[in-house]
Amino acid sequence: MKHNVYLALGSNIGDRSSYLEQAINQLLNHDQIEFVSRSSIYETEPVGYIDQQSFLNMVVNVKTTLSPEKLLEEVQKIEAECGRIRDVRWGPRTLDLDILLYDEENMEMENLCIPHPRMWERAFVVVPLIELNPKLFVATLDKTIQEVYKEIPDKEGVEIWRPVIGGEGLEPSGN
Ligand code: ATP
Ligand code: MG
Ligand code: MG
Repeated sequence: MKHNVYLALGSNIGDRSSYLEQAINQLLNHDQIEFVSRSSIYETEPVGYIDQQSFLNMVVNVKTTLSPEKLLEEVQKIEAECGRIRDVRWGPRTLDLDILLYDEENMEMENLCIPHPRMWERAFVVVPLIELNPKLFVATLDKTIQEVYKEIPDKEGVEIWRPVIGGEGLEPSGN
């Protein structure tokens, strides 16, 4: 059975869009992952540890036969291949690849929590997720994703950097 998964991608070091592109290519080429769709790329101001470059963020929808634990191993492999060095939590990174949702799964393990515990307070996750699935119902909060979005206090600083419509290239449109 194939599981329906949403992943969040983020990069804020070096050639940010090429890290996103590398990660997407690895997902596209993975035997046990079927690529469904991807959001536009958004440029977002850093939150948490704020003394760092702005991020490029996006969300992708994939299907997979992998278990949540195996999928975490695979996304961490992709992070490593994209040059991720684990240093400051919430600090600068070439690629962050987080599991947001895995079917209706609810799990809290030491190294894996699904849904991602901080996703609903993050406009840089919720905005691209709405783009991919505006009708998503958040069972754990008993709210629609639109309601979740309305309740995020700080929504500024998330701007479209490269829209998904109009080509698959990941470079910014000429503006
Ligand atoms: P945040 O989790 O707040 O987005 P981060 O992505 O910067 O922070 P990382 O350094 O990438 O944090 O990951 C720290 C640990 O989080 C990982 O080693 C992983 O075991 C754990 N983790 C727990 N739940 C998840 C999840 N849903 N997706 C990815 N990693 C997770
Ligand atoms: Mg993260
Ligand atoms: Mg992470």
